[in-house]
Amino acid sequence: MLSVCMLNKNHVRESKLMKLNNPDLLQTKAFINGFWVETSASYAVLNPASLVEVAQVSKCGAKECNAAINAAHTALTPLKKMLAKERSAILRKIATLMLEHKDDLATILTTEQGKNYTEAQGEIIYSAGFFEWFAEEAKRIYGDIIPATKPNTKIMVTKEAVGVVGAITPWNFPLAMFARKFAAAFAAGCPVVWKPSEETPLSANALASICVLAGVPQGCLNVVSGDAVQIGGALMQSNKVRKITFTGSTRTGKLLMRQAADTVKKVSLELGGNAPFIVFADADLDAAAEGALQSKFRNTGQTCVCVNRFFIHDAVYDEFIAKFVAKIAALKVGDGFMPGATQGPLINQMAFDKVAAHVADAKLKGATIVHGGKPHALGGLFYEPTLISNANSSMLFNTEETFGPLAACIRFKTTEEALELADNSETGLAAYFYTKDLALAFQVAEQLEVGMIGINDGIISNEVAPFGGVKESGIGREGSKYGIDEYLNIKYTLIAGL
Ligand code: ADP
Repeated sequence: MLSVCMLNKNHVRESKLMKLNNPDLLQTKAFINGFWVETSASYAVLNPASLVEVAQVSKCGAKECNAAINAAHTALTPLKKMLAKERSAILRKIATLMLEHKDDLATILTTEQGKNYTEAQGEIIYSAGFFEWFAEEAKRIYGDIIPATKPNTKIMVTKEAVGVVGAITPWNFPLAMFARKFAAAFAAGCPVVWKPSEETPLSANALASICVLAGVPQGCLNVVSGDAVQIGGALMQSNKVRKITFTGSTRTGKLLMRQAADTVKKVSLELGGNAPFIVFADADLDAAAEGALQSKFRNTGQTCVCVNRFFIHDAVYDEFIAKFVAKIAALKVGDGFMPGATQGPLINQMAFDKVAAHVADAKLKGATIVHGGKPHALGGLFYEPTLISNANSSMLFNTEETFGPLAACIRFKTTEEALELADNSETGLAAYFYTKDLALAFQVAEQLEVGMIGINDGIISNEVAPFGGVKESGIGREGSKYGIDEYLNIKYTLIAGL
C-alpha cells in the first residue's frame, strides 16, 4: 500500500474543503508512481459558483506525463500477473471506500464543478457502481478452445491486458467518467495514466487517494493534471501507451484519433451528442414532461446525453409545453451547496457564452421565449433555465450541442418528419421518445441512428448497460459486460504435437 502525504494547506483556499472528514482526500499535487509530486508550475482552480479561487494545483507537462507513463509501464507485468480475484478485491474496496467517503467527495465535486450537492452525491454512488460491476467482471475474462483444423492440435484463445492506458476525461462528471474507464482497465490488468480536466483536478486526486487506500499498487494509477496539449502529446507519442480512452468534445476526439494513428493505439472515444427527444401524439405527457426535465436540466444541461432538440407532435404541442414550463419554473438556481438548489452555474465563461449565443440566435430566427432566456440575477456563470417554443431546424442549437440549460421545441406532424429531423445530425449518442404504441416504439427505436435509446424514460445511464455512440459520437462502449473488451487484446495460440 502507498503512503498519502499530508495536505499542504497553503494551497487550499475554500473553507468547505478545509472541513472534510478525511483531509487526506484533498490533494493538490500530481500523483506519479505512488507519490504526490510537486511540479515547478501550478495553476488556479475556480469555484464556478463564486468564481473564487479554490486551490492552486500542480501543473504537469510532458516531463511529468512521461514519468507517469514509465511508472505505469513498470507496473504492467506485475498487474497482469496479479490474480483476477485480487484485482477484484481492490476494485470492490474502492467502491466501498467511495461510498464511505461520499460526503467528502461530493463536497470537493460541488466546490470545483458547481453541480448541486445532491447530484454530486449521486455521481459518487453512480461511480462506485462501476467499481463494483468491474470487480465482478475482472473474474470473467474467459477465453475459448476452438475445434482444431489439423489432427493432434488445439486452438486456444485467451484475452490479455492491452497494456498501459492513457485516459483523458472531461469536467462534467469528473469521477464517473473516469470510474468507468479505470474500473474496466484495472479489471483487465492495465495500469493507467489519467489526465483529468484542468477544471476538476481535485476530484481526480480525491479518487486517486481512495485508490491508494484501497490498495491499488504503485504505478497502476497516475494522475497528471495541467497542460492538455503537452500531456496529450506525450501520451499519444509514447509507444508504451497502447490504448487511449477519451471522453470529451468531438473536436478533441478527432484530434486524438488522428494522433493515435502514428503508433496504432487502440482507441475508444465517447464524444458529443445532440440528443433528440420525440413526444408522439399518444404519449403520457406528464411522464414526458418529467423525463424531459430530468434529461435536459440535470447537471445544468451539461451532460453528453442531455436532450438538445425537442420534437413535439402538433396535436400535443401546447399541452406538453404547458406541463414542461411548469416544471422548469420550479427549478431552483443557486450555489450547489444551497439547500434545494437544482441548477448550478455553467462551468466557465465559454460555456455561458455558448448558451447565450444559442438563445440569441433562436430569438433572431423567430423563436418565442416561454421561460428564462437571459443571464440569471445571481450573475456570474448562472443562466436562467430556458424554454423556447416555435423553434426550427435552422437554429444553432439544432446542429451544435448547447451543453447548457436551454430546451428548444420544434413542432412535427408525421412520424417520418420526426425521424428525419432526429436523424439529421452528424452525431448519434442518445435519443429519447415517448409513446404507448408498441409497434411504433419498435419501428422508431430501429430507425434512430444512435447508440442508446430511452423509450418513455429520460435517464438511461447505469453501470450494467453499454454506454456509447455511433457516427461522430464515438467508438467503443463503457460499462456493461462489453466495457472490459476495450482493454483486452485477443491472443490465438495453436498447439500441435498433442
Ligand atoms: P470540453 O469542451 O468538454 O472541455 P475537451 O475535449 O476540450 O471538451 O476536453 C476534454 C478533455 O480533453 C479535458 O481533459 C481536456 O483537457 C482534454 N484535452 C483538450 N485538448 C486536448 C489535447 N489537444 N490533447 C489531449 N487532451 C486534450
